[in-house]
Amino acid sequence: MLWLSVIRLKFLALYIMSDMIKFVDLSKQYDSIKSEIDDAISSVISETEFVGGKNVRSFADEFAKYLGIKHCITCANGTDAIEIALKSLGIGKGDEVIVPSHTWISTSEAVTMTGAKPVFVDTLSYYYTINPREIENHITGRTKAIIPVHLFGLPADMDSIMMIAKKYKLFVLEDCAQAHGAKIDGKLVGTFGDIATFSFYPSKNLGAYGDAGCIVTNNDELSEKTKLIANHGQLIKHEHKIEGRNSRMDGLQAAILSAKLKYLNDWNEKRINNAKLYNEYLKDISQVRTPSTIEGFTHVYYVYCIKTLDRENLREFLNSKGIETTIHYPRMLPMLDAYNYINQSPGEFKISYEYQPYILSLPMYPELAEEEINYICDTIREFYSLKV
Ligand SMILES: *Cc1c(COP(=O)(O)O)cnc(C)c1O
Repeated sequence: MLWLSVIRLKFLALYIMSDMIKFVDLSKQYDSIKSEIDDAISSVISETEFVGGKNVRSFADEFAKYLGIKHCITCANGTDAIEIALKSLGIGKGDEVIVPSHTWISTSEAVTMTGAKPVFVDTLSYYYTINPREIENHITGRTKAIIPVHLFGLPADMDSIMMIAKKYKLFVLEDCAQAHGAKIDGKLVGTFGDIATFSFYPSKNLGAYGDAGCIVTNNDELSEKTKLIANHGQLIKHEHKIEGRNSRMDGLQAAILSAKLKYLNDWNEKRINNAKLYNEYLKDISQVRTPSTIEGFTHVYYVYCIKTLDRENLREFLNSKGIETTIHYPRMLPMLDAYNYINQSPGEFKISYEYQPYILSLPMYPELAEEEINYICDTIREFYSLKV
């Protein structure tokens, strides 16, 4: 029996080795719904509804319905979505906006683009989201809003964040770019704050085949303002109420997103299941810490992030065995050259700074097979057994 399983493992290893296990493989998902996607694309082309149009309107309705929110305003990408949402809140020069120290640069970049100043706040260990306790220490007379990011697919602590926002009368903009379908006690992220933004970048939990994004809100006035800003200040053609900009979703992306939205919950379930398999197969390896979640929080695993002291060597070893990994993110935002002008020291972000050299993201997508996860975990085990 043992011999048989050894042979099976060897065979499996060879089989997988012939093909790299990519960090994200989008072609498997396309193959699984090819005819629906192809039909969606060809109908947009035959209808010549290239920018805006009925596919964009129906996707906006479907996504609002999915979230149970009143308005969904589509735009060109998730970075624009944050900037437009901030502008709709009247945020600009002289204002401060609180953002986490550890996230993708879009969050803080969008704040700067409005003329306001991003104020970085440390994150939590194990969960990687903004630390609500640190937020209060950074509020000044100029603070206008907080942007919690539901990083890696795990919701930020919205209960505490909303309480702080209420106490200091601040707006809350949820950056949901990594967390389509994530929930706290059954309530979907994007429905807690005043306004929320999503990215549909191809690798996100709900991804287009190019750039796309949206803003969601229950507030009629904010909905109207974001619509104006995203489309040259006009709701009716040639009636420009203000100067806006061009940030629109195109018809192809909307039709693709509509075809894919039906599968979002299934795909998230598969990600959650893959995370469970990883947790199970890695639990006996004491050198690896698997990601944490919180009771009542639905983590949708945009990223499966482990922590290990041997990150660089492990990463190289996995790569030599055909396993692609990545790092989200190699440097926390305040330490990037782009923010040298803020002149902050790592000591101000103790937790982000502590885990930064140890985090490693393993392959994660719904179509990742159990045998592949098994092979990845066996390879990690092999690395540590070689070390001792
Ligand atoms: C992807 C992402 C964005 C922006 O998305 P784009 O559509 O690429 O502009 C914003 N915030 C976070 C946290 C992201 O991961």
